[in-house]
Amino acid sequence: MEKYIKIIGDSYYGYFNYLVNEMFYPSWKNYFWWLLGLSVGVWLLEIFFPWRKKQAIFRKDFWLDGFYMFFNYFLFSLIAYNAISNVAVEAFNDFLGIFGIENLVAIHIESWPRWGQFLLLFLLADFIQWNVHRLLHRVPILWEFHKVHHSVEEMGFAAHLRFHWMETIIYKSAQYIPLAMIGFGLEDFFIVHIFTTAIGHLNHANLRITYGPLKYILNNPIMHLWHHVKVLPKDRKYGVNYGITLSLWDYLFRTDYIPHEGRDEPLGFNGMEKFPKTFWQQVTYPFVKRGEDTSIRPDRVSLTKPVIKTKS
Ligand SMILES: [Zn+2]
Ligand SMILES: [Zn+2]
Repeated sequence: MEKYIKIIGDSYYGYFNYLVNEMFYPSWKNYFWWLLGLSVGVWLLEIFFPWRKKQAIFRKDFWLDGFYMFFNYFLFSLIAYNAISNVAVEAFNDFLGIFGIENLVAIHIESWPRWGQFLLLFLLADFIQWNVHRLLHRVPILWEFHKVHHSVEEMGFAAHLRFHWMETIIYKSAQYIPLAMIGFGLEDFFIVHIFTTAIGHLNHANLRITYGPLKYILNNPIMHLWHHVKVLPKDRKYGVNYGITLSLWDYLFRTDYIPHEGRDEPLGFNGMEKFPKTFWQQVTYPFVKRGEDTSIRPDRVSLTKPVIKTKS
């Protein structure tokens, strides 16, 4: 027990120092300044080349989403995630130790070239995320948490990191064992993390980009806008376009759906008029609202929406 309390203490102390360092000492390997730089960069693109020309530069929920961005990228780690995950990893290793297992590494890839390790980690992590994202839409309890992300009404770069902190725990838990089996955690790969942040920002941006033929591999603003539309086709009642960084999985498993560009499609979910508007209410909502819910996914099915052929 003492060991765990020490881990909790060290986690807070360590992460606090890390965050202070990140903020006050800019460098090339620094998440804080990369996040800020990418955000300003994508925002400038939105200002100079907007897709929805009438959307305000400070769109609806701009500041709320900006706060979510900082909270989910840094503050949640400081407040809870770092301590919880360090304790969980230690407890999990202790549990394995009971059975004489010292580590989970099953496939040794240390001898692979560096780019091969990056690629494997990236593909595996993204495929797990795609599956978790599908579950967030399918399992009613998980959908309650995921509603925060789908309560965006006007898309802009910062909507990328508007999500309930529980999603961090769900995604990271699902990724932990498979990644430990090939011998690393996501933290090891700075470049992958920055790349996925950039693509995620662009996916939510007010920009008309599809990356040409690369659209079959990379998720993009047009494809992801359809993930957020309020009215879904009746045969896809849980959702479409679940891709996070890669669109590949949606094309492989036939969950892709881009009937037309959809620039002005209404976004959200049925019943979102009743969804809370402030940060604190939104993150506590799934816990206080349990049991009296009305707006689960199947309600969003449209019986009238025609399916128009893809033209992009
Ligand atoms: Zn979703
Ligand atoms: Zn999204």
